[in-house]
Amino acid sequence: TDTLHIIGAGLAGSEAAWQAAQAGVPVVLHEMRPKVGTFAHRTGDCAEMVCSNSFRSDDDERNAVGLLHWEMRAAGGLIMQMADRHALPAGGALAVDREAFSAAVTEALRAHPLISFAPGEICELPGEGRWIIATGPLTSGALATSIRAATGAESLAFFDAIAPIVHAETINMDIAWRQSRYDKGETEEDQKAYINCPMDRGQYEAFIDALLSAEKTEFHEGETAGYFDGCLPIEVMAERGRETLRHGPMKPVGLTNPHDPATKSYAVVQLRRDNALGTLYNIVGFQTKMKYGAQTAVFRMIPGLENASFARLGGIHRNTFLNSPTLLDAQMRLRSRPNLRFAGQVTGVEGYVESAAMGLLAGRMAAAEMKGQTLPPPGFETAMGALVNHITGGAEAKSFQPMNVNFGLFPPLEAARGGRKGRKDRYKGYTDRAKEVFSAWLAAQA
Ligand code: FAD
Repeated sequence: TDTLHIIGAGLAGSEAAWQAAQAGVPVVLHEMRPKVGTFAHRTGDCAEMVCSNSFRSDDDERNAVGLLHWEMRAAGGLIMQMADRHALPAGGALAVDREAFSAAVTEALRAHPLISFAPGEICELPGEGRWIIATGPLTSGALATSIRAATGAESLAFFDAIAPIVHAETINMDIAWRQSRYDKGETEEDQKAYINCPMDRGQYEAFIDALLSAEKTEFHEGETAGYFDGCLPIEVMAERGRETLRHGPMKPVGLTNPHDPATKSYAVVQLRRDNALGTLYNIVGFQTKMKYGAQTAVFRMIPGLENASFARLGGIHRNTFLNSPTLLDAQMRLRSRPNLRFAGQVTGVEGYVESAAMGLLAGRMAAAEMKGQTLPPPGFETAMGALVNHITGGAEAKSFQPMNVNFGLFPPLEAARGGRKGRKDRYKGYTDRAKEVFSAWLAAQA
């Protein structure tokens, strides 16, 4: 075949189409919107930003996502070009005018002589031909079912779980106290990293009753196929047995209430610091599908949280992604069907920028292959290489979760590059090294 088909004109699919077409390969872009929508998208435009309008830090010297910006710009990325063109002032971050940005991406793709559009939903994993599947966290139900059938039930996850976040100043510290379980931690600050709310037996039983009877949000169609292991909604844990929470996220062990040291708590709710300032705390393990109104009422039953105000309530959101470490090869191809490549959030990266970067890579790899060449991924000293290495092999398959780009994915620095220096120098060491390796990777393709 001489045409590359791409499913999904989101952040990843749009970039993949651009890269392949710029390499001289004809592309057909299949997009279901606006005919078939998702609960988050509002328009029929390409590369719609469904939530925030930020591409995060633009610091390419000391920040991993800023470095990813740099690499995408160096590779002639369409997403970065249009983001830069429609940037809004936002300190060190790259924020964009989302409507102008998406309109510009759409216009550039439509104007490209090698790109054509095929509107409509693709309901099954394609058989023949060369394809990139970039259908994102909200991959349509029919296609997700088909992917699941081809890869196995354990291979496609459906959820991200969010625990509620409380304004610290609204926690009643006459009842709650600061302590890490078993006083773990090296500094005194670490040893007091958590805020604990105690429950006696009566309070615990009443709390379980409230959880069980609270109104829950229904799942959207196609969302019910299964939860992540290890992040069940608390109400589902409570349904499995009245003691389950007391032996799980609400276990009282390793904690002593300084307000009443003689009495052992029957259960303890823990809150973990959520921001550097220490103004926000999330309730550990409390992801939930309870309705917002019900959440406020139920969580205020927790001693110490009677007057809590919530910065964000809990939720469990649809996020469809593959167990890429087991399913994809280093070329981002489905091992069992190498004519199919995956890109974007569905591969288990997290974020607009990361998704677009995986689209850039998949588009280039597919184009090279169609010209009889093989394009190796960039070295994992680069942001793009570190990410693709993580999802296609570096990550633990059993506990695979969506990943943002970060320096933890990079190989350690040799001492000559500041491997032993302070933090700031170390990050600069990472980005200097990445830029050299990425430039060489690009030069080899010229
Ligand atoms: P998308 O941009 O979603 O593109 C996928 C495209 O495929 C869509 O256009 C869709 O219509 C199309 N499609 C799906 N199925 C089919 C089919 N069967 N046939 C044809 N077309 C199909 N990331 C951030 O960095 N910041 C945020 O604030 C943020 N907020 C988010 C909020 C929500 C509610 C969600 C779900 C995700 C959010 N993300 C955020 C995560 C993620 O980075 C974005 O979703 C990003 O758009 C992913 O890019 P993508 O190209 O993989 O998927």
